[in-house]
Amino acid sequence: MSALPDPGRALVVGIAKSGRAAAVLLRDLGWEVVAVDRADVDARDLAAVGIEVRAPSEEPVPADLVIRSPGVPRGAPPVAAAYAAGTPVWSEIELASRAMPNPIMGVTGTNGKTTTTELLAHVLREGGMGAVACGNVGTPMASLVGEVPGDTWLVAECSSFQLEDTPTFRPHAAVLLNVTPDHMDRYPDLDAYRRAKMNLFAHQGPHDLAIVPRGLRPPGAAPAMHISPAGDDGPGTVAWAEGGLHVRGLGRVAPWDEIPLRGAHNRGNAMAAAAMAAHAGLGAGEIASGLATFPGVPHRLEVVGSVRGVAFVNDSKATNPAAAIAALDAYPRHVRLIAGGSSKGASFDELARAAAGTVERAYLIGETAPGIQVALAAAEVPTTCVGDLVSAVSRALSDAAPGDVVLLSPACASFDQFTGYAHRGEVFREAAREAGAG
Ligand code: ADP
Repeated sequence: MSALPDPGRALVVGIAKSGRAAAVLLRDLGWEVVAVDRADVDARDLAAVGIEVRAPSEEPVPADLVIRSPGVPRGAPPVAAAYAAGTPVWSEIELASRAMPNPIMGVTGTNGKTTTTELLAHVLREGGMGAVACGNVGTPMASLVGEVPGDTWLVAECSSFQLEDTPTFRPHAAVLLNVTPDHMDRYPDLDAYRRAKMNLFAHQGPHDLAIVPRGLRPPGAAPAMHISPAGDDGPGTVAWAEGGLHVRGLGRVAPWDEIPLRGAHNRGNAMAAAAMAAHAGLGAGEIASGLATFPGVPHRLEVVGSVRGVAFVNDSKATNPAAAIAALDAYPRHVRLIAGGSSKGASFDELARAAAGTVERAYLIGETAPGIQVALAAAEVPTTCVGDLVSAVSRALSDAAPGDVVLLSPACASFDQFTGYAHRGEVFREAAREAGAG
């Protein structure tokens, strides 16, 4: 744990969840805190604890430390000014990790972060260790300072944005699950996005665990370890899938049919979580019982019910094509796919290739419906543009035969029609319920 500087004046840019937690923590630590956000953000709770909130248009704020929220681009004026002046700029996880003695595990990747983070925290707890999922899953790490015992594992879900200003952040075990194009509206290219994610490993020591996709080298001192979707490929393979879930040093942890998570992508997530739990000291039996009892995460391939032999699966969190492709891999037949939403600049060609032969018909909604329709038509996948989610559910059900799966896996963000993916998933769940699914 690196030290915190003596209290001075801090500027927190962006006061959504993690920015708020950072501001309150700094205040508790004796800092004078000024926060910047849009004028219409409700900040009465911050004002009540002596944190001044300003609109970004006001005069620049001189500060000894700047905390940049994940939603704020590096070029935003108060942040750009701090970089130019040489003022330290940290993300909230950097601040929190300096304020706590706890051991940390880090999870990043384009897809699978929340599933793997929650799974790993569950496995550690089932094995009798203190563990709490935090970070991008919704509980800011900074909000845990003083709230958890010092030996509790902090299992931190880290988005690329949170990893951009982390000069000392060091997880003892960390995984980069995958990198596919996403957030191309925030990064100049895939390389820049990948580099941000690789920062997770930058300050690891030689005995830490770094799990990365094959071909990538973690920038820190920990050796590159991989997970293998097939057999044991040698000493660099920390976990492999052939004949069950194996972890190096533990042998076979469990057969796959005792691990309820569905799909090849979830096998990858489970192998990463198991290897990290082993690194924390758990044995094969403890890890197996944690994997077997994991209830899953809402909005990720969540079976919400069935009617007349037609199952409804809510994968609203599939906000990019790779996640939807993973869903089609988990449900390889008789799928009535509901897709579309707001655009993040992705191509749908690969999704169309995965849908060919799997998807009986796609029901397209939202802003991206025309683009997805063109891609699917080229792959000869039948489509219907239905406009909104409730109509998509009723059209899909009326077309469906027993044994079909109505799968909401939109491959797009949701902000054109919903407040977020959870809202979209709730609307789907409710529409399925109205249609008689239970
Ligand atoms: P994140 O937190 O990275 O967004 P989630 O666990 O919330 O990841 O899952 C997001 C979406 O990606 C879901 O649709 C889920 O089914 C899918 N998914 C989960 N793990 C993977 C993976 N390893 N590869 C591809 N897609 C995945």
